[in-house]
Amino acid sequence: MIKTRLAPSPTGFMHIGTARTALFNWLYAKHTDGKFCLRIEDTDRSPDRYFPEAVDIIYNELKWLGLEWDELVSSQYERSPRHIEVANELLKNGSAYYCYLTTEELETLRTEARKTGKPIQSPYRDGTKPAPEGIKPVIRLKMPNEGTSILNDIVQGEIKVENDTIEDLILVRSDGTPTYNLSVVVDDHDMGINHIIRGADHINNTFKQMQIIKAMGWDLPTYGHVPLILGPDGSKMSKRHGATTTEDYRKSGYLPKALFNYLLKLGWSHGDDEIISIEDAIKWFDVHDILKSPAKFDHTKLTALNALYIRNTDDKELLEMLIPFMEEKVNHPLTEREKTLLLSGIPDMKERAKTLVEMANMGIIYIIDKDSHFAPTFDDKSQKVLNSDKNKITEIISDFETKNIEWTRDGLNDYFKQKAESLEMKMGDIVAPVRVAITFSTISPPLFEAMVIIGKEESLRRLKNI
Ligand code: GLU
Repeated sequence: MIKTRLAPSPTGFMHIGTARTALFNWLYAKHTDGKFCLRIEDTDRSPDRYFPEAVDIIYNELKWLGLEWDELVSSQYERSPRHIEVANELLKNGSAYYCYLTTEELETLRTEARKTGKPIQSPYRDGTKPAPEGIKPVIRLKMPNEGTSILNDIVQGEIKVENDTIEDLILVRSDGTPTYNLSVVVDDHDMGINHIIRGADHINNTFKQMQIIKAMGWDLPTYGHVPLILGPDGSKMSKRHGATTTEDYRKSGYLPKALFNYLLKLGWSHGDDEIISIEDAIKWFDVHDILKSPAKFDHTKLTALNALYIRNTDDKELLEMLIPFMEEKVNHPLTEREKTLLLSGIPDMKERAKTLVEMANMGIIYIIDKDSHFAPTFDDKSQKVLNSDKNKITEIISDFETKNIEWTRDGLNDYFKQKAESLEMKMGDIVAPVRVAITFSTISPPLFEAMVIIGKEESLRRLKNI
């Protein structure tokens, strides 16, 4: 059975690169009827790096994306005794040794090593140099001094490294804590992970980790190193490119399925299909189709895809996703009436909004009434339109109050058309201030539909309110 894993460190956020790695691992497990495991790599306990809530962030972000795990190791840190046990076994079978080099001695050796281009050789490696008193040693793995290591990577192809270029690996620090490379290997082995799909930034680690595995006589897993995600300028995607975490996208109103779809296409190809359902992704996904060259993150493309997903989502489902955004905006839990009004506006909004945030901005127009605590504000442009023709608005109010105007989309359309003709104005110019009064903005979903949804009384109230 194929077992994959995601092994994130609790940093307090989930970088979209990690999310994509999670996605690939999850999909491959699903595709092969295997298992997707999650392991929290919380070994760095320095107070500025570690905070317990960061673990929940990993769980929440993965769940939001729909990437539930089949098995969980919730703390690598707690498994330290097991890691040390393996280091002791390696000492026993002669693959590892205690190294007593001091910082100064290491410095001297490194200066030497730089001249020859070879890594340092510890004088304690062959056991001839006696252990000095009062120095706490590290445990190092004996890396082979000759030969070539070959990694048959399912994404990158064959990668070769000359063994005599790698320094003897520290397995246990002088304070008795296991190092990252040791912990990862032991945990992957104990969890039965046989496919390791992770970022290409781990390739160097893989060559070190393979030596630990060999020294323990364990089976080598299959490796696939996924290229990094690049920003639009071709450098590694980072904060300066804007939104880089799943939380950024969640809070900006992206649908998890849209991000899922976008990340999948970013680094994996399946014909020309733009929209790929989760079911099809599971059916089609094969690690061998992961692209070898790094992909550039295209924000505009993601946003366009998100708009498409919004349009294709059922109104009621969309309403549920929209409610938290709306509630944050109006600062109160929506009443049933507000939810009903909002739902009526969804067909018009979803044709226009690219994100749930944009939708919430538009959604205000459907739910606000005389009892609302939320007061809309007008931007400068809207204010200008309003000020331009207050008299017209007064006339329109009077028409609404005295004439028998059919309160339907067509009825309102006919009224404004005739009004424009009688005043010899363009219909757009008459409608513009009404749009601002009703929708609080110069850009809105279809105005007459909105006026029908909110009703005549509320429409009049807004027109009088300006
Ligand atoms: N904990 C490592 C990281 O967050 C990943 C380790 C691995 O995938 O082997 O980068």
